[in-house]
Amino acid sequence: MIGIDEKLEPILAEVLRRNAGELEFHQAVMEVFESLGRVIAKKPHYADHALIERLCEPERQIIFRVPWVDDAGQVQINRGFRVQFNSALGPYKGGLRFHPSVNLGIIKFLGFEQTFKNALTGLPIGGGKGGSDFNPRGRSEGEIMRFCQSFMTELQRHLGEYTDVPAGDIGVGGREIGYLFGQFKRLTNRYEAGVLTGKGLVYGGSRARTEATGFGATYFVSSMLATRSADFEGRKCVVSGSGNVAIYTIEKIRQFGGIVIACSDSNGYVVDENGIDMELLKEIKEVRRERISQYVDLRGKGARYIEGGSIWDVPCEVAMPSATQNELTGKDAAALVKNGVLAVGEGANMPCTPDAVRVFQNAGVLFGPGKAANAGGVATSALEMQQNASRDSWSFEKTEERLAEIMRNIHDNCAETAADYGAPGDYVLGANIAGFERVAAAMTAFGVI
Ligand code: NDP
Repeated sequence: MIGIDEKLEPILAEVLRRNAGELEFHQAVMEVFESLGRVIAKKPHYADHALIERLCEPERQIIFRVPWVDDAGQVQINRGFRVQFNSALGPYKGGLRFHPSVNLGIIKFLGFEQTFKNALTGLPIGGGKGGSDFNPRGRSEGEIMRFCQSFMTELQRHLGEYTDVPAGDIGVGGREIGYLFGQFKRLTNRYEAGVLTGKGLVYGGSRARTEATGFGATYFVSSMLATRSADFEGRKCVVSGSGNVAIYTIEKIRQFGGIVIACSDSNGYVVDENGIDMELLKEIKEVRRERISQYVDLRGKGARYIEGGSIWDVPCEVAMPSATQNELTGKDAAALVKNGVLAVGEGANMPCTPDAVRVFQNAGVLFGPGKAANAGGVATSALEMQQNASRDSWSFEKTEERLAEIMRNIHDNCAETAADYGAPGDYVLGANIAGFERVAAAMTAFGVI
């Protein structure tokens, strides 16, 4: 296998064999294995006691039936998942995704990535992920609530502030977290605020959590740009998606003086050369919960909507894929490089295919992988847990200051680790190794468990 150390090849072959057909999980594991050869060469003890094999095997995987009744009185069945991947550094921590594409392989890829990401934050959180193949699109408020209640009725027995602490992800925002928390509280008769993050401010949420992933990703790209004495000022940027991560990435880029000229949803993309109108975007997505095509009708002249197609054909200097996995291919990367892209920061999890990452790295484009660049969301979730544990509530400024500091530290840690391992500027390698070393050190201390 290309790029994988020969000592790791049999381990990888076994991981692929026993997780057959889980392509996204394979992709995430292979990417990490491409980096681990250098660690094993320098610190061979990390290959002892099947540590790497154990790291690739989730500690626990829960799959459950979620029955609920729709508005027409019909019984619907969905499948629920929670993969408790690794608790070496703290309780399992990672979001819930509600999307029809969800399956075990996708949740495992996300849980695996999450383990390294959470380690990079330097905070005491392990890795987990969950969700359901439930499709929230077109569902009424009542249907969403009943689904969330049924989902939590099973999931609650596996959660706890010292055990497993979910949050949101695709299709799970503040509304869903409210329904999930309400049902948890009702079933357990405990006001255990630290059991979920991304909560509303009136019931234990943290200021800046909603903004944290997008803001954090933008801080990360800003640190990468600074290594080349550059910044966002006046630069044209493209951000894919128009959900939680995309919206707050666009907002922070604007605060940093950049101009976001395009964003998207799964049907198409909008180009607005004057800069995306934040207030309008929030109104369409957060209040009306409509499609991005509405933007053009409401914005009037200057903006255009392109159905289908690739948002990555829009020329820009900074690209921040913030929708979903494998949304940016090698071909898209080549188009971005041809159009002069300077930096790419992954707001989403694994949005760039391995081919795309290679194109960027070979062209000398600054590339920030998701497990580092989008770690601000989970880091602020950990700050929410801190506030819950101390029955405290911090100001927006204090929380954002902590977030900015954490993102700077993650950036510097990745950059220094890459340089230490002979690959300066390779943030993929830096993130994988820095995350791995922290988890591996704790796992080593615990013995074989
Ligand atoms: P949201 O549900 O708020 O938004 C998702 C956005 O991506 C929507 O615009 C959606 O469009 C689009 N999208 C989803 N699936 C697809 C698809 N298959 N093809 C094209 N577009 C798609 O989710 P988030 O913003 O929370 O999450 C976005 C990404 O960021 C995910 O990869 C998530 O794992 C990652 N992430 C999120 C964090 C968070 O704190 N929320 C933290 C770290 C990472 P449409 O409406 O058409 O479906």
